[in-house]
Amino acid sequence: MAGPIDLHTHSSVSDGTETPAQLIRAAVAAGLGTVGLTDHDSTAGWQEAFATASGTGLTVIPGMELSTRHGWKSVHLLAYLFDPTNAALIAETARIRQARLHRAESIVQKLAADYDIEWADVVAQTTEGATVGRPHIADALVAKGHVATRSAAFASILHPRNGYFEPHYAPEPLAAVKLVRAAGGIPVLAHPGTRGRDDVIPADKLKALVDAGLFGLEIHHRENTESGRARLVELAERYGLEVTGSSDYHGAGKPNRLAENTTEPDVLERLIAAATGMTPFYG
Ligand code: AMP
Ligand code: FE
Ligand code: FE
Ligand code: ZN
Repeated sequence: MAGPIDLHTHSSVSDGTETPAQLIRAAVAAGLGTVGLTDHDSTAGWQEAFATASGTGLTVIPGMELSTRHGWKSVHLLAYLFDPTNAALIAETARIRQARLHRAESIVQKLAADYDIEWADVVAQTTEGATVGRPHIADALVAKGHVATRSAAFASILHPRNGYFEPHYAPEPLAAVKLVRAAGGIPVLAHPGTRGRDDVIPADKLKALVDAGLFGLEIHHRENTESGRARLVELAERYGLEVTGSSDYHGAGKPNRLAENTTEPDVLERLIAAATGMTPFYG
């Protein structure tokens, strides 16, 4: 479908502030041709997104941003057009969501020693069944008047230097790439250059992901640094990886605006052609 292609957005099914229906309406209003719905570790928003897109001319690429972990480093893997009934993927995402829940409760317990906040305050910021994350804790801190905005909460109270941070269970990136491919899906590394040249996944590690079926790198993303992008472009050329760009829209939860970064139509065409788990929803 003609119009900008934005392959990375979040709804209230994870840590976006708009319901899938509101997100789709925002995508239509912004003039997008194609939007990828990529909630963290969940496909729960897909049906509502399809229903809302129906008749609008918008193409929806169903996807997910899968949490993975390499050592202490959190690595986000975008997964597109996989079979949502794949048992292994369902089991793994359920495990991750459960781990996220326990980890969030544990973070709140630590915060409660120093701030007026309790678990119910976080639940109040979360849609039933949503993938829980630090953004919901940030929203609870805002609601309780401890800080002005979600972003300010991340920059202050929730900053890892303050000791409230905790990691959660997530599979290794390599296992995640294999899982997505086995479900007929297409894996793309999300914002892999956020902390510059030194933080980009090491070339030998990336090679293993490529061999397991990694499709591309999300290079056009506001959080990738200049030096990180330059290194990623080199790596994409070296390994024949596709390049994507997207907004990582979270509604009011982040400054990121729809289509502030986009993906080229020919890249999307190859992505769709390579997927065997699902077809796009042509609304
Ligand atoms: P978690 O997955 O629970 O570790 O939380 C990470 C999520 O928090 C990311 O996926 C972002 O959506 C969000 N996030 C990270 N940093 C910020 C920030 N500075 N402002 C708003 N949201 C953020
Ligand atoms: Fe997020
Ligand atoms: Fe991410
Ligand atoms: Zn994201």
